[in-house]
Amino acid sequence: MKENLNISTDVAVIGAGAVGLCCAYYLRRAGLSVAVIDRSAPEERCSYGNAGFITPSHFVPFAAPGAISRGLRWMLDAESPFYIKPRLDAEFLRWLWKFGSYSTRKHRRYAMPVLRDLSLASLERFRELSQSLPESFYLQERGLLEIYIDPKTEADCREVLELADRIGVKAALLKGEALRELDPRWKLKARGGLFFPQDAHIDPAKFISALQKHLLREGVEFLQSAASGFIRRQGRVAGVQTEHGEAPARYIVIANGSWAPELARRLGIKLPVQAAKGYSVTVETPGDLPQIPLICSEAKIAVTPLKGRIRFAGTLELAGLNTAINARRVAAILRRAPQYLEGFDHLPETEVQPWAGLRPCSPDGLPIVGATHSFPNVYFATGHAMLGISLAPVTGQIIAGQICSEQTDLPVEALSPVRFN
Ligand SMILES: Cc1cc2nc3c(=O)[nH]c(=O)nc-3n(C[C@H](O)[C@H](O)[C@H](O)COP(=O)(O)OP(=O)(O)OC[C@H]3O[C@@H](n4cnc5c(N)ncnc54)[C@H](O)[C@@H]3O)c2cc1C
Repeated sequence: MKENLNISTDVAVIGAGAVGLCCAYYLRRAGLSVAVIDRSAPEERCSYGNAGFITPSHFVPFAAPGAISRGLRWMLDAESPFYIKPRLDAEFLRWLWKFGSYSTRKHRRYAMPVLRDLSLASLERFRELSQSLPESFYLQERGLLEIYIDPKTEADCREVLELADRIGVKAALLKGEALRELDPRWKLKARGGLFFPQDAHIDPAKFISALQKHLLREGVEFLQSAASGFIRRQGRVAGVQTEHGEAPARYIVIANGSWAPELARRLGIKLPVQAAKGYSVTVETPGDLPQIPLICSEAKIAVTPLKGRIRFAGTLELAGLNTAINARRVAAILRRAPQYLEGFDHLPETEVQPWAGLRPCSPDGLPIVGATHSFPNVYFATGHAMLGISLAPVTGQIIAGQICSEQTDLPVEALSPVRFN
């Protein structure tokens, strides 16, 4: 990465996570000159150590009926998978209020087909990217199995199954032999599971690395610096101010994940995005690995088979912009996983290096993609929460399409930042 940028480009993208890099990819493919500005090392991005799931299965938005009451119940448990840190921060309280008001059946009905269409389109883009990027990012189309141990969870699974059926997402409830035979390399202790055959997974660190290498070859400029504000000329935004000087550009894409509200504020825009911290632990696992990734339903732990490694990821902590690692929550992930799986009873709590990332969460569970009325050449691409890998390619496609004034069948109005006004 360069530390100085003296050229002017068509587009400056702030943020080199999966979302920013995918925006840069589709913008460059459309023939525009692009600069990407990021201040951090790859492993500090949320896009680095996550579970890597591509999830048509996640068509129910984060803001869904029961989310707030579950959050409040779990607030008192230091090892719970979902935690809201109580704090008197006006933006956070406004976000929480909005989140509560979107957690309805009506909103769920509205958001489900939007998420379905975006994730299926994104999966198609992943297939194309796996052919066109210079390095493999291990795209595996093997489905996703969400397993449960508590008999009461079966009712929730049946509800999801019914919703999936209603909107045409493929899913099946498996029990007994059918469950165990799906991927016999997993020694499951589960009572049952929901299988989503359309899901896929990747190695997310390899994905961002392959994208960045490709973009460098395609002449995209990379600047290692913090964006601190914007160049303003005659009421327009004419580029990005960084710690290392100016990056003039005709269009700006703000794709800096959980930190997007800081930059939005410089434009007088209140962007409702809150960081939700999550952790992962990756364990070297020699021998024949299972192939189908899992979600341990009650513990909310994602388990991803990567090449020679297995990753356990989980926890959603609404605790502001900090990546400090809470050892008790990481230990809880390692302790709870063996309740679902044989062979992981001695996960090396002291030997593994936990990773933490901040998911950028919008209050309605839909990404925030598009421009506002006040600055028509400034686009936001953030708020993807637990879907930022899954939806990164389709987000890049949408941003490039909007900047190039192309028509689309994708449900882009549902993603507009203007919806919160
Ligand atoms: C434990 C865990 C598991 C997850 N599992 C999945 C999964 O299986 N599937 C899925 O789809 N999603 C998953 N997610 C969510 C996903 O990781 C995020 O939604 C996604 O990575 C967000 O990408 P992004 O590009 O918006 O942000 P980031 O990857 O965080 O990138 C933002 C970048 O902007 C930079 N930046 C910030 N401010 C500035 C500034 N002022 N100037 C310059 N640079 C700046 C940051 O340094 C960072 O590099 C998971 C997340 C976690 C924590």
